[in-house]
Amino acid sequence: MGYLSLYRKYRPRRFSELIGQERVAELLRASVASGQVSHAYLFSGPRGCGKTSAARILARAVNCLDPQGGEPCNRCEVCLSMLEGSSLDLVEIDGASNRGIDEVRQMKEQASMVPFACRRKVYIIDEVHMLTEPAFNALLKTLEEPPLHVLFVLATTDPQRVPVTVRSRCQQLPFRRVDSERCAAFLRRICEEEGIPFDEGALRDLAMASEGSLRDALSLLEQVAASGGARAEEVRSFLGISSYRRAFEFLRGLGGPLPRLEDLVEEVRRGGDLKAFLENVYDWCYRALKASLVGHGGDEDVLELLSVLPGDRALGVMEVALEGLRLLRMGLREMVVADFFLAELLRGLSPRAEPEGPIESSPRSSPGAGAFGEAVPYPPSEAAPSVASGAGEDPEGAVPEELLEAARGRSFLLTSLLLQCRARLEGDSLVLIPEGGFRFHLDMLSERLKEIEEMASSVLGVSSVRLEGGGEEDPDPFGPSAEASVSPKEVLAALPLEENGPGGEDEGPLPRKLVDFLRGMGAELLSFSPLEAEEEEEDEFDSEILQR
Ligand SMILES: [Zn+2]
Repeated sequence: MGYLSLYRKYRPRRFSELIGQERVAELLRASVASGQVSHAYLFSGPRGCGKTSAARILARAVNCLDPQGGEPCNRCEVCLSMLEGSSLDLVEIDGASNRGIDEVRQMKEQASMVPFACRRKVYIIDEVHMLTEPAFNALLKTLEEPPLHVLFVLATTDPQRVPVTVRSRCQQLPFRRVDSERCAAFLRRICEEEGIPFDEGALRDLAMASEGSLRDALSLLEQVAASGGARAEEVRSFLGISSYRRAFEFLRGLGGPLPRLEDLVEEVRRGGDLKAFLENVYDWCYRALKASLVGHGGDEDVLELLSVLPGDRALGVMEVALEGLRLLRMGLREMVVADFFLAELLRGLSPRAEPEGPIESSPRSSPGAGAFGEAVPYPPSEAAPSVASGAGEDPEGAVPEELLEAARGRSFLLTSLLLQCRARLEGDSLVLIPEGGFRFHLDMLSERLKEIEEMASSVLGVSSVRLEGGGEEDPDPFGPSAEASVSPKEVLAALPLEENGPGGEDEGPLPRKLVDFLRGMGAELLSFSPLEAEEEEEDEFDSEILQR
């Protein structure tokens, strides 16, 4: 069973079979039925959503010898010749392959001639935005004075790149991304008809991964079918972290005993698709949020998520995922964004008091830096009440700065874990109490207990470190983490502004949240310049130069 066979077999042959494009399909069908077909159309929309299929249906419908309410019969000789690809009156040009110069020139010459066997000669130009300028000019000439017997269908994934002179001479019809529900239903139908074993979660996973492209969905289905079927396990391992299910398991893990958050970093290191993962996290949280407002409608997955992520928490995770996506778009390396995402997630999930009152800016900060103070989430060391070392038993305070400093040299995540703790000294033991009482926080700390102990004994002189809260925890089940995570230096090296050098004129703007985050991680603010009326999306940006 080859990919092409399934793809061909299930290609829609009537307007009514176009999946997810009901409005456009109905408009075209009605136009054919009433004899009011334009001489030129521009079909725009994401790849694999049915533009070319619709163009071919239209070509048959306007020429069919026995049309049925605007639909082609797919049985008459005209329909059959077009379905077989033998009709001389249906010409398909791929704008992407050789940028169309010869074809369009030839088309210009031939368009004036009457069709061979049909009422209308149909030219389908795929990826029309790829045409060269001479090809566009030739096309424009033909569009300006179109012969009555010619129908043009231009298709593009990027209508903005089609010259406005061409666009204005076409009726533009937008095709939509096929939503995952419909895509999954389509896959289910194929599985049933082809006898491919499947389960619902796996189909949904495939639908999400294909991002609205039925063509991609079919291709994925065929690949997993070759290895036994569309079962949850196969699809999950096939898709890796870009699996929709994987995102669900990750989120569910936030409430469980051993979520292994760092598996994510490991998977990204091995080339996993972080962007798809973050989009899926966003989507699950959106569903949870929606369910918390209007009810879950019997969706058990969402119900399960709601117990871990009640409405406001789901919203918080969505924000962090969005921030991660934006950092990816800014060009930050995936590893850095993954670490940022985990640390932010951890911070966001722990309820932490706002810093009390304004925070003094560092002595080396420029005068403008004061404006930044209110957004700093982590109190700098000098403002934070910290545990006094050497005493017998102290009240709880912030984690000693010496320990944080040692952690900063090792890993974002480790620093973030410690920043989310309170601490106190008991004899010569340091007791760490994770804030928020999250089990996974405790688990992650205990995984690193030996490492923390080593640091604490060298910088604080304590003999042991103990974790407290969240029930009985067996310390040190895994030993120290072998590998340090990404260092703040690496993040700074990856920042776009670095390309222009510090103080360069074209510094890229940094999201405030990242700046906050870096500061909390020990980065120092050297200069600050408020951004001039240059807003990207709806968020505020600040230009900062940070140096560790
Ligand atoms: Zn026909």
